[in-house]
Amino acid sequence: MNFLIAKNNYYDKFGGIFVPEILMPALQQLIADWKYYRRSAAFKAQFKKSLSEFAGRPTPLTEIPRFAEAVKGPRIFLKREDLLHTGAHKINNALGQCLLAKLSGKKRVIAETGAGQHGVATAAACAHLGLPCEVYMGAVDMQRQALNVQRMTLFGAKVISVNNGTQTLKDAVNEALRDWSASFEETYYCLGSALGPHPYPEMVASFQAVIGKETKAQCLKQLGGLPHQVVACIGGGSNAIGIFSAFIDQPSVELIGVEAGGKGNKPGEHAARFFADDVGVLHGCYTYLLQNADGQIMPTHSISAGLDYPAIGPQHAALFAAKRATYVAANDQEALAALKLLAETEGILCALESAHAVAHVMKIAHELPKENIVIINLSGRGDKDLGTIIEKS
Ligand SMILES: *Cc1c(COP(=O)(O)O)cnc(C)c1O
Repeated sequence: MNFLIAKNNYYDKFGGIFVPEILMPALQQLIADWKYYRRSAAFKAQFKKSLSEFAGRPTPLTEIPRFAEAVKGPRIFLKREDLLHTGAHKINNALGQCLLAKLSGKKRVIAETGAGQHGVATAAACAHLGLPCEVYMGAVDMQRQALNVQRMTLFGAKVISVNNGTQTLKDAVNEALRDWSASFEETYYCLGSALGPHPYPEMVASFQAVIGKETKAQCLKQLGGLPHQVVACIGGGSNAIGIFSAFIDQPSVELIGVEAGGKGNKPGEHAARFFADDVGVLHGCYTYLLQNADGQIMPTHSISAGLDYPAIGPQHAALFAAKRATYVAANDQEALAALKLLAETEGILCALESAHAVAHVMKIAHELPKENIVIINLSGRGDKDLGTIIEKS
């Protein structure tokens, strides 16, 4: 079974295109464009050039021996997506999609953003490629993330304040979709994770697959073999599917996704979708999600905004169902402790999202055979989280 390329829009029984009729023409056009450009030599060459000359690829694979000693573990390495331009792996996806927008002749890019990270990456990619960019953002989120609003504005993007509903991410998604359904002939909708209706999960996973390809080549060259465990945090699932992609067909490599355990196990206190073991449709896609008995989407909580989402990408749902990957959770306190230990022992300040993957390794490290090689995908840097870190310490 292919966990990266959809078969008739699905991965096993997950994924699909669950959208209102009015959005079907936009998605059909996107499917056709993606089908064409994914094989285009011009697209591939330009994407590669932007990734290396603008985003800063390849990112290093860094061994963290003092951290490994502190947790009594085997050899541990970090894939350093935190060193990318704009501070996280999100730029890989934004560059891929905005380049697709440009080559397919779109005149304008729209996106939605919650904490602002995807908005910043999209605004930077658009400036780099010379495309106008408009980002929908809830009014409440704009207040909470004022610095990211400034960043997007400096990159020449227009940030549109959404004043409906709870004035947060899901209301911003609705506004962006409304815009797109009326404007898709000249507008590209840049989605931020390996989520949503087909072909988005397939496209985003393909743009993030560069993480896995590099990691595998670096492992073979630096270590002379494959890793034993690959660990990544999971919000929508894009950084995880990116690094997993190169190892899915190597059964000896254990793949571990780490969700947000939040502040407790009760509904509303976490964002651990597999913990609830429930499926349904959200934002165009059939997958594991957090809902109540009436099918209403549950509120979620995580110390890290990037993991605070009620649904998970369909490729991870399929990997879970096939038992090819394992999914666990780390809670707020564990993530904070992991962030601090990594900073102290190695001089690396990671994002609170990435700290969930580090936290899981902290928990299991002492049980692993000493000859193991563990790789953690360090999805982003922690500068954006300093306020939260100081407040919670
Ligand atoms: C957005 C974000 C995530 C979560 O998104 P995925 O699509 O699951 O990768 C993780 N880490 C960082 C640093 C982020 O900014």
